[in-house]
Amino acid sequence: MKIAVHNLLSCGGCDPVFFLEESPEFFRKAEVIFWNKVKDETLKVFRKIPDQGIEIGFLCGAVKSPEHEEVVRLFRRKCRTVVAVGACALWGGIPGLLWIRKEGPRPLSSLVVPDLSIPGCPPEGSTWTVYLQGLLSGRPPGPSEEPVCQECPRDRHPFRLSDFKRFPETEPESRGCYLSLGVFCAGAVTQKGCGARCLRAGYPCLGCYGPPAGLTARGERLLSAMVSALVPQKATEALKNWRDPAGSLYRFDLATHPLVRKGKCGRSD
Ligand code: SF4
Ligand code: SF4
Repeated sequence: MKIAVHNLLSCGGCDPVFFLEESPEFFRKAEVIFWNKVKDETLKVFRKIPDQGIEIGFLCGAVKSPEHEEVVRLFRRKCRTVVAVGACALWGGIPGLLWIRKEGPRPLSSLVVPDLSIPGCPPEGSTWTVYLQGLLSGRPPGPSEEPVCQECPRDRHPFRLSDFKRFPETEPESRGCYLSLGVFCAGAVTQKGCGARCLRAGYPCLGCYGPPAGLTARGERLLSAMVSALVPQKATEALKNWRDPAGSLYRFDLATHPLVRKGKCGRSD
């Protein structure tokens, strides 16, 4: 099985090299034709590969330059299956926050349609296993319809808020749902699959697995849940003091927001 791997605009954290330890048998079967961060090869090698000459192409990272665009289109041509890996490839990821001030990167889907999308920042080892086994068996999984909250160990109960807080400005001993502490936790608007790894480590969910299947406007839904819990007398003050709205609501997917797609963000004029 011939495979190719390329990192576009990314921190390198999603590179399948980290998956090697989790699933060496997958890579034992693989003949790596091209891997820009591991094998010292240039695109010249890749351009010479016949169309459809590679079984699986893994693309990590977001698209920001003409070279990235060429790589993505080449992968679509040369690879029978294109796998988008990680939040940057799927939704623009953390670099997509650039759109707050200027033109930022775009997800792969702005250029091509991937055959499989592996979520996460980075994808959990078990997520790699589930997605690749599904791919090899001809039944690749799609996004889950269930949210991270389903796997979360924290206690849920009705709540009212008088202000918003940034983690870790909360009572450390509390075991309550982060929303009830005033912290923007994206668990309710994020597909499960990571095992709620941040919650189990004592941190709120930042939303790196993306929306559950069929959920749109996830940032707006989270905002609506938090604002409707504010006691009316405190609402204006809480919204005025709220820091980092884009990071709270669209940390990994600002690049896919309708305002970005319509060209209403990222212009300096
Ligand atoms: S919103 Fe966050 S803290 Fe609350 S149940 Fe969901 S994942 Fe857990
Ligand atoms: S808990 Fe949320 S931020 Fe953490 S790995 Fe899971 S989806 Fe990503």
